[in-house]
Amino acid sequence: MFCMAAQTMGYRVCVLDPAPNGPAAAIAERQIVAKYDDKAALEQMGALCAAVTTEFENVPAPSLELLQRHCRVRPSAQAVALTQDRIAEKRFIRSCGVDVAPHAAITAATALDAIEAALFPAILKTARLGYDGKGQVDVAEPSALSAAWQQLRATDCVLEQRLRLRRELSVIVARGADGAKEYFPPIENEHRQGILAVSTLPAQVSSNQLSRVRDIVARIADGLQYVGVLCVELFELADGQLLVNEIAPRPHNSGHATIEACVSSQFAQQVRALSGMPLGDPALLAPAVMLNLLGELWLGADGAPQPPDFEPILAIPGACLHLYGKGEARPGRKMGHVTVVGPSPDIARERACRVADILGLPRPQLSTRGAGPQ
Ligand code: ADP
Ligand code: MG
Repeated sequence: MFCMAAQTMGYRVCVLDPAPNGPAAAIAERQIVAKYDDKAALEQMGALCAAVTTEFENVPAPSLELLQRHCRVRPSAQAVALTQDRIAEKRFIRSCGVDVAPHAAITAATALDAIEAALFPAILKTARLGYDGKGQVDVAEPSALSAAWQQLRATDCVLEQRLRLRRELSVIVARGADGAKEYFPPIENEHRQGILAVSTLPAQVSSNQLSRVRDIVARIADGLQYVGVLCVELFELADGQLLVNEIAPRPHNSGHATIEACVSSQFAQQVRALSGMPLGDPALLAPAVMLNLLGELWLGADGAPQPPDFEPILAIPGACLHLYGKGEARPGRKMGHVTVVGPSPDIARERACRVADILGLPRPQLSTRGAGPQ
């Protein structure tokens, strides 16, 4: 999606990916098949490209540092490095004056029996390399902590209190090198088994909530001296309190609907920020609901491959299908998404429910609870 946005603006794209047939390779003009830490490959890329970005936060920060010696890299290696480690990330967010969930760092130096009982029930999350709920284990009570940590191979972790969420929001911002910021409308997200299932754009928020979330996002983006597209995932608690869950230094799955729903998509904003062009207009053109399409949809009841029939979905007004061209369907693997736009939030949602019914997915559970006066 980034490649396509760059090409629309006349750029040619080179992709470095360890997998030979990744989705971007089918679209980019050039591909370098190499590991993310292959020095010769990185030097080749740095010589070829005017500017480099990443769509995946686990590219090793030293690789981005190496590229920085050759060409412009946005976001910076330093900003990406910070978001690669949940312990450092939470410390940084608090240093910006922004709240996070109650938590404790769990490392080899931690006395597990000294962890406060008030954190339980909790979730133990690996500090590094987790995504889509992977690298997370529920820990009901203090006595279960040691076994849970062993299950995660005693790697550095964060133990986080399990919170009762009223809803989850995300806010995507583009920040230019001059510090200018353009915010997309807040998005409401529904996760199933730790994986994003549905995003609704825009989330219903009061003007007070909107200014609070923008203040949080501005503190984080400015604090990182960030250049590019950044997503901040937020938890809203029953009392209206907003906590930052995590930050993603890239366009985010919850923002895919910006392709159809906004004047400039999150990918177009990344191209503009990377190339030093003025940021685009993130204004809403049409309310939208995005449904993720996971690998299980491609597997029949017996587990044998059976691609879904998308024809009835494409007959629904406002439904836009995106398939990523990934070779193998596996349960939980993101294979594509459907964005459904409509003339009103209710109509977009009603159409998205029809898409969900056809595919056999649970219907979007959009909360109307956030529309209160806080
Ligand atoms: P990932 O890196 O896999 O996205 P997250 O920390 O964002 O990991 O967790 C994935 C999802 O799990 C969240 O979006 C949320 O739905 C749920 N979750 C994570 N932490 C908590 C928590 N402390 N309390 C309640 N739910 C949580
Ligand atoms: Mg997350």
